[in-house]
Amino acid sequence: MRRIIIALVTALALPVAMAVPASAGPLDDVFAKLLVKQVKGENVRKHLEALQSIANANGGTRAAGTPGYNASRDYVAGKLRKAGYKVTLQPINFVQSWTENSPPTLARTAPDAKSYAPNEDFYSFEPSPAGDVTAQVQGVDLILPPTPTPTSTSGCEESDFAGFVAGRIALIQRGTCAFAQKIRNAGRAGASGIIVFNEGQPGRTEAYPLDIGEWRANVPMVFADFAVGNELATGTPTVRLKVDSTLVLGTNDNVIAESRFGDPGNVVMIGGHLDSVTVGPGINDNGSGSATILEVAEEMAHFPVKNKVRFAFWAAEEIGLLGSDQYVASLSQAQRDKIRVYLNFDMVASPNYAYKLYDGDNSDNQGSPAGPPGSAQIERQLADFYGSRHLPTVGTDFDGRSDYGPFIAVGIPAGGIFTGAEGIKTAEEAALFGGVAGLPYDACYHQACDTIANINATALDVDADAVADSTARFAFNLRGIPPRTAATAARSAVAVQSAS
Ligand SMILES: [Zn+2]
Repeated sequence: MRRIIIALVTALALPVAMAVPASAGPLDDVFAKLLVKQVKGENVRKHLEALQSIANANGGTRAAGTPGYNASRDYVAGKLRKAGYKVTLQPINFVQSWTENSPPTLARTAPDAKSYAPNEDFYSFEPSPAGDVTAQVQGVDLILPPTPTPTSTSGCEESDFAGFVAGRIALIQRGTCAFAQKIRNAGRAGASGIIVFNEGQPGRTEAYPLDIGEWRANVPMVFADFAVGNELATGTPTVRLKVDSTLVLGTNDNVIAESRFGDPGNVVMIGGHLDSVTVGPGINDNGSGSATILEVAEEMAHFPVKNKVRFAFWAAEEIGLLGSDQYVASLSQAQRDKIRVYLNFDMVASPNYAYKLYDGDNSDNQGSPAGPPGSAQIERQLADFYGSRHLPTVGTDFDGRSDYGPFIAVGIPAGGIFTGAEGIKTAEEAALFGGVAGLPYDACYHQACDTIANINATALDVDADAVADSTARFAFNLRGIPPRTAATAARSAVAVQSAS
């Protein structure tokens, strides 16, 4: 059945492509309708059953660093290869264990000598690797004296490091974005060591032990009190920074596959995370997105699409978006610019679902600002699909909780579907979507009961069609998605910063 329809489409699509100018052609519509017909909830469900079996055979989990993850990777990669895709496994790192062996050292060596007290003035910043560096300190976008309330965006943006001299020790102020973000940016800028100091407001002056919780940079780092940072920000001191720890890194693979057809200069990227949390099999979160993307990839494997379609199954999302983050970090600016859209599917079959679309245009005016230019069009195209089925949608904020984060951070427009996690369904949403108001969208979110029984078949079926529809349309038609340049990327980075 599948092959017959594919052959028909191929025969049908090619003459149409020749008959109409590509920019105005209805091919996107033709292909979308056919792919939606091909993609089936029951096929997605078979992949979910396979992921459940994998979890059952591996201690009930498919989490980063477990055999259940590797088995999930092998399953997805095997299906993609069988469908004819060339599959790339991209290794990414995460923290497996961290122990401190002896107290750290922080001492000014020039212009004059001064030692700071370990585990009092400053602490090793977990998970700092071991290291012993002596280098000049360079402050990064510091606000001294500090403002009355927290405002510092020191180190939050890659652009903060534009004038940073590689090999120096980055001096960064605590502020309004995640420590992990500052650490990552400093590592990328070539810092030989990192000192993060408390921002300086009342209640934000002391040093204490801190864990970033994620692996971001492979240089020694400490968390210091405000007085230390304030002192080192004056002049251009040289310091010795030493951390004595044992950091064991683990490795998992992102699974990436690309359509054989399509313009490699215009890439439509479709992704979701493949790992679960440790305590459960993660069948809704995010077997549902992974299995849906896999089904769409299988069904469109032989279509001669116009734009390159790249499918990604991210590793280690649940421990800090590490797979998508390290993927984006590995791309050159030119490679990033070729990715015209990124669609993210993380939890698309929640038992008490709502059809939530990432709020690309910030029409909800909540939380983070609008996504990079093009994000509004992605949201609209997804909404149009539900509209065509007379189904409602609501917005959901780009709150940074899934793998679109690293993409929008570098100016790549993003969008996607989310049927809800631990949040509570409102009465308005129950009126729109059915289900039960006052209860979580997914009561088994991040729990052992996120099994195959935790999947809503209606949401899975509808969302699989929505993923197919949008993938197909963007595979042929990127009108309305502005071409990206360094300038638009910088603009959207500023927008992200002003909201944090
Ligand atoms: Zn998830």
